[in-house]
Amino acid sequence: MHCPKCAAEVREGARLCQSCGISLEEYGVVRDPFTEDKGRPPAAGGMAAPVRRRMIIAFVVFDIILAVVLVFFILKMG
Ligand SMILES: [Zn+2]
Repeated sequence: MHCPKCAAEVREGARLCQSCGISLEEYGVVRDPFTEDKGRPPAAGGMAAPVRRRMIIAFVVFDIILAVVLVFFILKMG
């Protein structure tokens, strides 16, 4: 990874930049895995899949309607 201040190469998991000495934790580069887990809502993964599938179905239905309308217009124009 790279330092957000001086863009120097920083060792993964390092808390301080060895080039300019800033605290990478303060810049939000180093994230504590425990705080990340607590902040994540547990239902998010289960809720996203059906919504995404419904959106795909809606897009497919819209595509079919569009195709039918297009064919209808082409036939009418002759
Ligand atoms: Zn730096």
